[in-house]
Amino acid sequence: MAINVAPIPGLDPAVNDIRLRTAALVNADILPHEDLLWGMRAGELAEDERERSRRRSIELREEIKVKVNQAGLWAPHLPKEYGGMGLDFLELAYMYEILSYAVGASALFGVAAPNSGNASVLVKYGTEEQKAKWLLPLIEGEMQSGFSMTEPDQAGSDPRSIATEAVRDGDDWVINGHKWFTSNGIDADFFIVMCRADDPSGELGAPGEMTQIIVPTATRGVHIVRGIGIFGHSTSDHCEIRYEDVRVPIGNTLGLVGQGHQAAQDRLGAGRVYHCMNSVGQMWRAFDLMVERSLTREVHGGLLKDKQFIQGFIAESYMDVQSARLMTIDAAEKVARGSPDVRTAISAIKVFVPAAFHRVVDRAIQVWGGAGVSNDLPLAGMYLTARVLRLADGPDEVHKILMAKNILHQFERGAGWNFGM
Ligand SMILES: Cc1cc2nc3c(=O)[nH]c(=O)nc-3n(C[C@H](O)[C@H](O)[C@H](O)COP(=O)(O)OP(=O)(O)OC[C@H]3O[C@@H](n4cnc5c(N)ncnc54)[C@H](O)[C@@H]3O)c2cc1C
Repeated sequence: MAINVAPIPGLDPAVNDIRLRTAALVNADILPHEDLLWGMRAGELAEDERERSRRRSIELREEIKVKVNQAGLWAPHLPKEYGGMGLDFLELAYMYEILSYAVGASALFGVAAPNSGNASVLVKYGTEEQKAKWLLPLIEGEMQSGFSMTEPDQAGSDPRSIATEAVRDGDDWVINGHKWFTSNGIDADFFIVMCRADDPSGELGAPGEMTQIIVPTATRGVHIVRGIGIFGHSTSDHCEIRYEDVRVPIGNTLGLVGQGHQAAQDRLGAGRVYHCMNSVGQMWRAFDLMVERSLTREVHGGLLKDKQFIQGFIAESYMDVQSARLMTIDAAEKVARGSPDVRTAISAIKVFVPAAFHRVVDRAIQVWGGAGVSNDLPLAGMYLTARVLRLADGPDEVHKILMAKNILHQFERGAGWNFGM
């Protein structure tokens, strides 16, 4: 089923236009070819057919990217000077909910995590030299990247516990550390590695300050240990990596020594909102699939749509999609406006949206029965995505603690909460 998009009354006509053009591409060029684009059923093909299908899917992705570029819809999150659309957060929210309706469509619009997050950090913190060397090839799709922060031996929910060290030696950093769940690690040409920097001369700051350093994958001492198998799959592109005496120039420092935590917050803050925007599009799709199926599937002498259990699923899912969507738009508007409430709003959607996404997909799977968990539909993939989002980018508990702190702080200062902030 095509996504049903019409102009939103009162919305900037330029944003409505972007929405309509995005929907046109999604409906005509992406949805009808999802299986082929992502090889969703490649395992069912004979070996020679599989190779033909793989080549055709690469060609097709490139053809769609050309169309996206021609429509002026490439890299909506990046500034115009870097070949993007230069949209603000609110505009992005209105666009992403449409493009993420189709499986993997974000990548065809130049928005693929972690590359998109790394590109935004390079735009903000990178030197001109770093931009020429890493950012431009990343935007052009000539390079891939990863963000290497989480460590197996430390709690990822507490970034202060990071133990990977970068010790200055002359004009170089020498990095030692053990990371895991570095996404896109198999294909990445470079990693942005979160380290504790130590410059014995004191010239670059106090010891132990959080610092992000660009590490090309080909550097001696970068060992990709494995793609960690998740959810029963034997491998994935979420990699365990050991950095052993990895030597890179001081010039690879991203921003200043000590700015690593802030850069990570900038990236993760934005990333959380992007994840929610994408989740809303996928929830919308799951909702459509569920309702569509209920109209045609006959069980026990009647259509599913006429069973009250299923009507309950439809009503509850409507409320989940709509509240997730409105909360996400509200948070995006707060980011764009620089509202003082922005951190609470981001944490709220970080907790609420993946959980609502999980509930909606769960109901859609239930309505589809066995087909719901098959590779014939995108629901099983969505289900896993929703589950991961409840713990990645800071688990729910950490965000609830942060929200409560902000709210309590406001009351301790003698004022109630202003929901109109
Ligand atoms: C598919 C996937 C992709 C990922 N991609 C990346 C990536 O590209 N780069 C990267 O650096 N990392 C990545 N991660 C790692 C992810 O960000 C971490 O897993 C996450 O931050 C949680 O850290 P942890 O796994 O160490 O869990 P821990 O910190 O050990 O936390 C475990 C659990 O403890 C609970 N908890 C934590 N704090 C509290 C508290 N204060 N009170 C009560 N309960 C609490 C939560 O339920 C939490 O889930 C990825 C993870 C996955 C699964």
